[in-house]
Amino acid sequence: MAYKEAGMNARILVTGGAGFLGSHLVERLLDRGHEVLCVDNFFTGTRGNVEHLIGHPRFELMRHDVCFPLYVEVDEIYNLACPASPVHYQHDPVQTTKTSVHGAINMLGLAKRVRAKILQASTSEVYGDPSIHPQVEEYWGNVNPIGIRSCYDEGKRCAETLFFDYRRQHKLRTKVVRIFNTYGPRMHPNDGRVVSNFIVQALKGDDITIFGQGEQTRSFCYRDDLVEAMLRMMATGDDVVGPFNIGNPNEFTIRGLADLVLELTGSRSKLVFRPLPSDDPIQRQPDISKAKQFLDWQPTVELRAGLEKTIAYFDELLGDAKAPLVNEAR
Ligand code: NAD
Ligand code: UDP
Ligand code: UDP
Repeated sequence: MAYKEAGMNARILVTGGAGFLGSHLVERLLDRGHEVLCVDNFFTGTRGNVEHLIGHPRFELMRHDVCFPLYVEVDEIYNLACPASPVHYQHDPVQTTKTSVHGAINMLGLAKRVRAKILQASTSEVYGDPSIHPQVEEYWGNVNPIGIRSCYDEGKRCAETLFFDYRRQHKLRTKVVRIFNTYGPRMHPNDGRVVSNFIVQALKGDDITIFGQGEQTRSFCYRDDLVEAMLRMMATGDDVVGPFNIGNPNEFTIRGLADLVLELTGSRSKLVFRPLPSDDPIQRQPDISKAKQFLDWQPTVELRAGLEKTIAYFDELLGDAKAPLVNEAR
């Protein structure tokens, strides 16, 4: 099958395309004139995330679990299928590892058969609880192989191994990006990750649940910046492989995030402290020198601006479920 460069109406498969990041990626690809096949088993994603695209002449939605083989004809594959929130990936950890590993094998097998270019959405979790800071791509990580986060961390690490072995063994055109905590509109209100949890809690007037003392750090990237980096990565030449860290290097404590959400929502929610889950990384900040150099990319949306947009999204979504006090305060 002849390969078509993106930009020439390529046929593009997005696995996990009905999820938070996938649905935005799908929109951007359609905007660029491509044909998009969105494959999702709706474990954490929803039809609602893409329902505005149904009927679009270049969009197709397929319910399918990537743990099973998939025979389609495409030019490029973005492999995003995998629950990303600890609450959801720990709900059925065996399925999480299967999704990462069997899913990667099937999508790589597909890429091999049709000679498609394939990009893996990997994660900062491959660094585990990192002992070097900020994290550079050369760091091999500090990952517990038998803990409650291992299904995700080790599954994603094995997927990276598969991407590099298919490249070496089968000469596939592979790309790997390591995504650091990304947030934005269209996260599910029950997603369970910290940004959506805090915003929903603040808007409803519920207690803000800080795990541990809230001194642990994360670096939060707005979804538009992230999707832009993925598109740039796919457009690089075949010799550019990664892995590249993609994220916003501005680092915040979880306590600092809670304070900012309270300020921006005008909420009177109380902070409550809950036990820190095991293996919860203490610090996380991407070194994005490689993404800057190879993708000419860096984030443009700072946390305050990104949170404002995300709060506006949840404000509308929650409707009557919001606390009256919150509305009065704003
Ligand atoms: P998400 O949970 O909203 O999206 C994941 C999507 O994959 C969902 O639509 C889900 O239904 C689908 N899915 C799960 N298992 C599947 C299976 N077996 N077959 C088909 N579809 C399946 O999460 P997200 O934040 O949009 O994450 C997208 C990708 O980016 C994931 O691979 C995740 O690991 C990676 N990532 C995200 C972040 C982040 O902060 N958002 C950070 C690191 C990595
Ligand atoms: N596969 C797929 N779609 C394809 C080709 C392959 O889903 O178009 C799956 C199939 O399940 C296969 C796996 O990808 O087992 C790995 O393919 P590969 O060619 O690497 O190995 P195989 O198992 O076929 O020897
Ligand atoms: N966290 C928290 N309260 C919540 C959800 C998460 O304090 O309601 C903390 C969690 O313990 C972690 C950080 O926020 O230290 C980021 O958690 P998230 O689940 O968003 O992603 P992670 O980076 O841990 O995969």
